[in-house]
Amino acid sequence: MVENEKACPNCGEIVIKTARFCPRCGQVYPPIEQVELTLKVEELEQTVHQKRESSDRMTRLAEQSRTSSVWAFVLFAVVFFIIILVKHVTGPVFILICCMAVAAIILLFRSSALERKAYGKLSFFRREQQLQRKQLEDELAAAEEALSELRQQLDQFSGGQGG
Ligand SMILES: [Zn+2]
Repeated sequence: MVENEKACPNCGEIVIKTARFCPRCGQVYPPIEQVELTLKVEELEQTVHQKRESSDRMTRLAEQSRTSSVWAFVLFAVVFFIIILVKHVTGPVFILICCMAVAAIILLFRSSALERKAYGKLSFFRREQQLQRKQLEDELAAAEEALSELRQQLDQFSGGQGG
């Protein structure tokens, strides 16, 4: 099949791309602009879907990261107070605070790993994270807008043909 040819979706006959109907089976084709517009709409739908998914993913990971770091903070605080209150930390209490400290460190590492997954890097500045998320949401909004515009054009095509 050459570039300006296409296969009839009904019977498989090779016809020129701009043909309005099939010479073999009589199938009427939508105008080429409509076909191209449909393809563009599908492509953009894919993009919007991907951007929405990564935005959701980013939000989810950021929330998990925050929960992790809050728990790490709580554990560190408890360890600190036990050390302050109990003058001579020995035996089971010592083992307990060691476990808590280890857990807190693990949670901190988990939190930074989640954050790196969400934003592609580790950032201690909330503002930077917000900017990155906002950028993604702007891209998503722009893609959605372009999509609805294309859909309208496509509707006009179908409407114009029918009426
Ligand atoms: Zn045909």
